[in-house]
Amino acid sequence: MEPGNRARVEAWLRYGSDLGLGPYYRDRAVPETAVMATPGAGVESLDQPSQAMAAAAGQTDAGSTVAFSQPPVSPAASVSLRSSPAVSLAQEPSLFEASDRIEGDTLGLIRETIGDCTRCKLHKGRTNIVFGVGSMKAQLVFVGEGPGRDEDIKGEPFVGRAGKLLTQMIEAMGLRREDVYICNVVKCRPPENRLPEKDEITTCSPFLFRQIDVIRPKVICCLGSCASQTLLQTTQGISRFRGEWFDFRGSKLIATYHPAYLLRNPNAKGEVWKDLQKVMAVLGLQPKRK
Ligand code: URA
Repeated sequence: MEPGNRARVEAWLRYGSDLGLGPYYRDRAVPETAVMATPGAGVESLDQPSQAMAAAAGQTDAGSTVAFSQPPVSPAASVSLRSSPAVSLAQEPSLFEASDRIEGDTLGLIRETIGDCTRCKLHKGRTNIVFGVGSMKAQLVFVGEGPGRDEDIKGEPFVGRAGKLLTQMIEAMGLRREDVYICNVVKCRPPENRLPEKDEITTCSPFLFRQIDVIRPKVICCLGSCASQTLLQTTQGISRFRGEWFDFRGSKLIATYHPAYLLRNPNAKGEVWKDLQKVMAVLGLQPKRK
């Protein structure tokens, strides 16, 4: 681009950014296929977690055990609200976000609007729509990827093996499952538990945004790549920004690894526990006594 034009475009982008109208484009450093083509919970492409870190956090169980032990709260678990250089986000809600909110919206209304949904192809294989579960007054919302087999059958998020681990994580934080709200990016089970596709996420995520707007939690904890990339509008790998604080429509947002990833990589539990400790610090929670 000609230098004069480039300077003018940069000035316009800076002006828009000052107004909170960003980000304008998806980061192209990580090709979308590299991030979205991973199977399962979409986190296999993560950096290899440090065993030493996990051990330092007291994680000793190996193999497929689902136990989530409670290492001590580290004094380093402090709160800092910032935007990671890996994912540049406006810290204030943009004009678009502010005008998105639906006056008088309720979870019941959202569920009613979803109805017996046929908006995307996922409806063809589903047994039940998995809307979300928990307290509408929750200070903490967990967002997963999409229902698996058990969730599809039961109509409730995170009730399978990964769900049991999530419940243990919640309890380790000194909470009960019913104290938080749990939902997913897509509300119907993708066939063979494949990753939700872009059109499915685009169709379904407005309902997730409405759920978050109604609950207005203090903290949103994104579980895995799909949830964090959807809410943060990035294609960066989760390992680049996991454990960082972001602002999302007035809530603090943090991303951590998906419990399904922890089932396959128990050594990463230490890193997740550190992320959860940050959440606990914001919410003023003490870990559950054994
Ligand atoms: N994995 C998810 O992302 N969501 C669920 O509800 C269950 C498993």
